[in-house]
Amino acid sequence: MLFSLSNKKAAITGSGSGIGLAIAQVFARQGAEVYILDWNEAAAQEAANSIVAEGGKASAYACDVSNQAQIAEIFQKIGPMDILVNNAGIAHIGTAETTTEADFDRVMNVNVKGVYNCLFAAIPLMKEKGGGVILNMASIAATIGIPDRFAYSTAKGAVLTMTLATAKDYLKQNIRCNCISPARVHTPFVDGFLTKNYPGQEAEMYEKLAKTQPIGRMAKPIEVAYLALFLCSDEAGFITGCDYPLDGGFTRLNN
Ligand code: NAD
Repeated sequence: MLFSLSNKKAAITGSGSGIGLAIAQVFARQGAEVYILDWNEAAAQEAANSIVAEGGKASAYACDVSNQAQIAEIFQKIGPMDILVNNAGIAHIGTAETTTEADFDRVMNVNVKGVYNCLFAAIPLMKEKGGGVILNMASIAATIGIPDRFAYSTAKGAVLTMTLATAKDYLKQNIRCNCISPARVHTPFVDGFLTKNYPGQEAEMYEKLAKTQPIGRMAKPIEVAYLALFLCSDEAGFITGCDYPLDGGFTRLNN
């Protein structure tokens, strides 16, 4: 079978919902044993149960990726692993002037320190296995800077450069590291954003956001999961230190 993940252990953060959930489901279908890490305990458990009900192997761990001690403990329990997907992330709206210090710190803690914490805990466990694959969820915000998303764009820029630094540092240890940069993907992340910021205008704003992708719609979580599968499979063994836009033409075709 192409893109088989049989006998591989994969930890996926933020996999109780959205993109992370789709990645966990696809990886489990390809034979991986998946570890669902999410701060929403009920969502993590439900995700693991649904995978097990389909015949896959999954277990749930409630955690906050920004808490290094908690992450270290969970990764020690998981033991030697093959794949880490750093997907957990939060959104924020604001410019440099309207972003409060507390909000800036919160976004950095989850979206940047959370990635570092998981790298810190997982890399030694990959070395025990003689290598591994890391995939980080960046965003088109990392390279183009989305208006009114100062903290979010800053954090995703850091995710992109953490990807490059990690790919370089661990070339000799047989650890590959890449990132995916989606434009808008239709997940609870987007729905929550619309409900919070455009109450009563959700449908109209959804259409507007969908049309900012030249392809005319948002991505589906499963479309991100298929690229994640390829990048984490042995078939992508020659690929490291790369950022993959998955953006319906957003980055290159919008001018
Ligand atoms: P989502 O909100 O549907 O899912 C994110 C999951 O992460 C949730 O289950 C949440 O509980 C979990 N999470 C958040 N903070 C956490 C923490 N501190 N510790 C552990 N778990 C935590 O979001 P999504 O749309 O699936 O986004 C996933 C990733 O993709 C994020 O990093 C996001 O920035 C990125 N992304 C999303 C879009 C989009 O349009 N949806 C576009 C580009 C990039």
